[in-house]
Amino acid sequence: MPVLPTTHRTPNHRESESRQDAECGFIKRKMLEHAVLQSKLLPEPFIKIDLFNKNVKYDCDRFRSIFKAMQQHPKFERTLVIIKPDGIQRTLIGEIIGRYERIGLKLIAMKMFVPTAEMIEKHYTLDPEWRRVTGEKTIKGYHDKGLVPPETDPLEVTRKLLKKLSDYMTSGPVIAMIWQGSHAVKIVRKITGGTEPLTSDVGTIRGDYVLDSYEASDNDGRSIRNLIHASGSVKEAEDEIAHWFGKDEIMNYKLVSDAILYDAKLDSKLQ
Ligand code: ADP
Repeated sequence: MPVLPTTHRTPNHRESESRQDAECGFIKRKMLEHAVLQSKLLPEPFIKIDLFNKNVKYDCDRFRSIFKAMQQHPKFERTLVIIKPDGIQRTLIGEIIGRYERIGLKLIAMKMFVPTAEMIEKHYTLDPEWRRVTGEKTIKGYHDKGLVPPETDPLEVTRKLLKKLSDYMTSGPVIAMIWQGSHAVKIVRKITGGTEPLTSDVGTIRGDYVLDSYEASDNDGRSIRNLIHASGSVKEAEDEIAHWFGKDEIMNYKLVSDAILYDAKLDSKLQ
């Protein structure tokens, strides 16, 4: 619903807005109750940022869809993955998809395109905390290796990073995908590995297929090339899915393997 300037609001508008606020408050309270019961579904930063920060303008539709996602069986959890331009150039598409498929996740949407700089910037700043968290993570990465970070202000780190990231992500086609399954967000992050390939665990995609580091990328004034973007939390995933995909691009279907993964009772497989 369009928001009119205060001077043009009629009593009816005000009434409908306060009804929306009340509804939004109700959904928020429900989410919190649900989070207490199933804390693993609602990541800590989400509670801190979205539910208690009075300065954030709430989008109740987003709350409603996130709440719906939380109430569903965990097998419906979804996450967004983007194979970045280096993943496409290194012909690792099949390998990357294979890793997520093999663990039992279901691919429910996929498309290839060259992103615009605007879409990339929006994507990375959907989470208002991303600038601070990413800057702090980068600075910690330097300290952990006994190196001096090039910047001490986390926000300055990410200001410079966004430009490099935009150049990287718009340099060629990417593949955006939605993967669904129990704990999809955490499972995908685990398989993908940490941000810096040098320190990503062996056995993860980034750990096995890339040799980049903060040091090397700083040296060349570019973004770290680490093949994949993967959502960091359930909320982030729902926001990013809404950012890149329309509802009609997402498939709702059953796989034969769903039964062995999720059916509470297994039928005998003996003949
Ligand atoms: P992740 O993709 O692991 O969630 P971030 O959201 O922190 O990581 O950062 C987004 C992307 O920006 C990374 O995947 C990487 O390509 C790039 N990046 C992050 N930090 C740096 C950095 N300090 N220097 C260069 N590139 C970086």
